[in-house]
Amino acid sequence: MKKRYLVTAALPYANGPLHIGHLAGAYLPADIYVRYLRLMGKDVVFVCGSDEHGAAITVRARKEGVTPREIVDKYHTSIRDTFEKIGIAFDIYHRTSEPLHHETSQDFFRKLLQNGQFEEKESDQYYDEVAGQFLADRYIIGTCPVCANTDAYGDQCEKCGSTLSPTQLINPRSTLSGAAPVMRPTTHWYLKLDEHEAWLREWINTGQADGQQLHDPATWKNHVVGQCNSWLDQGLQPRAMTRDLDWGVDVPGEIPHAQGKKLYVWLDAPIGYISATKQWASDHHTNWEPYWKDKETALIHFIGKDNIVFHCLIFPAILKAHGGFILPVNVPANQFLNLEGNKLSTSKNWAVWVHEYVAEMPGREDDLRYNMIKNMPEQRDSEFTWKGFQESTNTELVGNLAGFVHRVLVLMHKNYTGVVPAIDANREFKSGWNAEQVGTFDDELHLLHLKLEEMGREIERFNFRDALRILMEISSAGNALLQFNEPWKTIKDDPELVKVVLKLALQYVAVLSVALRPFLPFAAQRLRDQLNLQPLNDDRDLLDIHNELAEGNPVIRANHALNPAEHLFTRIPDEVIAEQIAKLQATAQANQPAVEASEPAPAAHPPVQDEIQYDDFAKLDIRTGTILEASRVEKADKLLKLTVDLGFEKRTIVSGIALHYQPEEIIGRQVVVLANLAPRKMRGIESQGMILMAEDAEGRLSFVGPQEGWPNGWGVK
Ligand SMILES: [Zn+2]
Repeated sequence: MKKRYLVTAALPYANGPLHIGHLAGAYLPADIYVRYLRLMGKDVVFVCGSDEHGAAITVRARKEGVTPREIVDKYHTSIRDTFEKIGIAFDIYHRTSEPLHHETSQDFFRKLLQNGQFEEKESDQYYDEVAGQFLADRYIIGTCPVCANTDAYGDQCEKCGSTLSPTQLINPRSTLSGAAPVMRPTTHWYLKLDEHEAWLREWINTGQADGQQLHDPATWKNHVVGQCNSWLDQGLQPRAMTRDLDWGVDVPGEIPHAQGKKLYVWLDAPIGYISATKQWASDHHTNWEPYWKDKETALIHFIGKDNIVFHCLIFPAILKAHGGFILPVNVPANQFLNLEGNKLSTSKNWAVWVHEYVAEMPGREDDLRYNMIKNMPEQRDSEFTWKGFQESTNTELVGNLAGFVHRVLVLMHKNYTGVVPAIDANREFKSGWNAEQVGTFDDELHLLHLKLEEMGREIERFNFRDALRILMEISSAGNALLQFNEPWKTIKDDPELVKVVLKLALQYVAVLSVALRPFLPFAAQRLRDQLNLQPLNDDRDLLDIHNELAEGNPVIRANHALNPAEHLFTRIPDEVIAEQIAKLQATAQANQPAVEASEPAPAAHPPVQDEIQYDDFAKLDIRTGTILEASRVEKADKLLKLTVDLGFEKRTIVSGIALHYQPEEIIGRQVVVLANLAPRKMRGIESQGMILMAEDAEGRLSFVGPQEGWPNGWGVK
């Protein structure tokens, strides 16, 4: 392990509130990881802040008739407070409108210019002659060439989700004046990304740069590496790092042609991690530089998959182009969380807003955290449902965890007035880990330690779902320990045995009070109070427990007095869930276009085809696989070129799914493949098989695949 850690979480855009997809994508995984490192006594700094520049903010300000400053102040405060309420424990939550950030970004720009990293280029851009200014993509609206939506933006159509450029819009008009924009030449600085392609490819795929091993590529997620390679394979192009805008970081004034130019928001935003670290260091009278420049620092970026290219290719290129900075050792990006069968959408208000959740469900911060971690989209998209949320609280948090803790504390009070008894350590009893086995206090304490180590290893590998599962196994084993040994019955005949069993169960509870902290920090604190243990100070508490357990020592010793038992979690009643579902249904109804109000008649299913024999079916060799890479096929708007891992080999498959799936969203998805279909050339590419898809009456396509984590290359029968 490295000497110190600098952990970043994607800067939220100060243009709207946080929803649960943001939490599940970047902030919860980062928070779990950082809290764990702190508990293990590591030197770690966790930085984040509001991204307060970019045209979307000025567009919004104009729409609401306020200044951009008012917009960012409002959302910065609201986002910062929401993070605090849901227990995301940054060391600093900074903002990119701070002068320190402007200076830091401008210094970067100067240094890149001085190092010959920019190419100054003139290009034609839309200009509003009435308003007298160049138009950012967001300032231009027009008709979407894909879906004919008349209010598509110059960079994206929010109706069909297509990525656009302003020149693709039909009948473009300026949002400033309504005038039709004209083309005018303007000068910008382009980062020569093409010159960075070779080392980036080597670094991403081997972990090596400048002849040094900087990270182990096996620890990177497949879909992250796959998306990077898909970009690299298309060839990196010089990318404009400046914009004609009136809100943002100025191009340093001493540079010729700087007038009216701002830094591209994706140049300044990641530098925001550095300025946040500088501010933190200044607040704590320490030096920021080791956290960004010392090879003994592990830099880790937590982000959602939509930011992979910026954090894995463009920002590393910027850091290298500047010189003197370390590169990230990992970018454990998550995929997307969906909500009740649909994509989360800010513009359609299809979301669970975190600030509303904490207001409507006080005291249930950890209920949400638990459900989000359990369903975290680590390898592929996942889904939040209110029913699933209710069930995870009622069954797992109340039934398993809180039930166990409560039983142990109640029995400790009933039998020993809440004072931990001394025990005969040689007594044998039934193990909570295996009903067939017996063990002693020391044996079982050792098994508990092994489990705790297993949990830590999963956190270190960014497998937070698995880590949470192992944590809950500790609680399940505690419950089993009580069930197998029945202390409430045995107390009459064998009181000495009951002492051993309950004291051991109490060790489980005490270990949980620390191990819960990265996942459920509020519950961990409530549990510490009930156990009458010191509040955690986030400095090596878990390491101390490891050390005690390694030496065979109990975590809570004889004569320690416990506080009264309370319920750690309570059931969520059906009415609460019904209310939340009704709220979403109202949103769905409001989104429904009026013309679709009358329901169309259901389409008839096509008739079943002619009967076949089993032998006919057995000729089809259908295998499981995983999509490693995906890219568009030139001049074929329906086709994607895929690389599919079949376990024993990788295949190139051309698939007609491009109208239904974006290449970047399907990397890492598990599929089933017809593996013995004769190869066929499509648009000059040999397709070596076929991905099986479900199709509905409207011609929509859906992947079919095995359950999560299924191995590649095995038969489907
Ligand atoms: Zn569209």
